[in-house]
Amino acid sequence: MRGFSSGRPLIGITVNRDYRRERLWLPFAYSRRLEEAGGIPLLLPPLQESAAGVMPGPLKAVLLGGGGDVAPFYYGDKPAPGLGEVDPERDAWEIALVRAAFSQGMPLLGICRGMQLLNVALGGTLLQDIGVAGYLQHHQKAPRHHPSHCVELLPRTRLAGILGRGHLAVNSFHHQAVEAIAPGLQKAALSPDGIVEALEDREHPFLMGVQWHPESLLDRASEFLFRAFIGAAADAAL
Ligand code: MN
Repeated sequence: MRGFSSGRPLIGITVNRDYRRERLWLPFAYSRRLEEAGGIPLLLPPLQESAAGVMPGPLKAVLLGGGGDVAPFYYGDKPAPGLGEVDPERDAWEIALVRAAFSQGMPLLGICRGMQLLNVALGGTLLQDIGVAGYLQHHQKAPRHHPSHCVELLPRTRLAGILGRGHLAVNSFHHQAVEAIAPGLQKAALSPDGIVEALEDREHPFLMGVQWHPESLLDRASEFLFRAFIGAAADAAL
């Protein structure tokens, strides 16, 4: 756990865009969990890429939330039949935002698509569809707060240190997965079928991605994760 700060850091959260209905949306749980952990969440709509460089000004950290697939163009691939809905303009904005925040050492937490986006923004690639034989069911049909598969938290990772354990039961709502891990990132959790379920950068003040949805899991481990993220943001603000 990072140091205490009485400040309440502003945390940007990327949101989903429904471009057909011209709506922006975000499940409420993200902002509630950040608020409970001591932050003040601010929703970030997709902006022009040029805004990414100035955006980090008032923000102390960025949470990349869930959503649709990352367009394969951004990791040098072509669309496969299993690719889901993509919003390439959203991707371009978030990639620019990650690179700007990363270069400034700003804490970053990626959740589900957000972890995949972090990996792509920093030079990694994705598997376009793991909803096929040979993998576990990673898009569960159970309620969001219900853990459906187990992950092994790899020894000596920051994530295992924050969560204080070696295994964790998680929920799972993804049909894509990390393939090649971006240079500088390390895997921090694996599912029993070998899918990368968490990433981190041990050289960075706080850069972590989880493939599950801790904002919907009502467990202590998720609370520890959000508190560590807000703690890092508060430290960055000092
Ligand atoms: Mn999973």
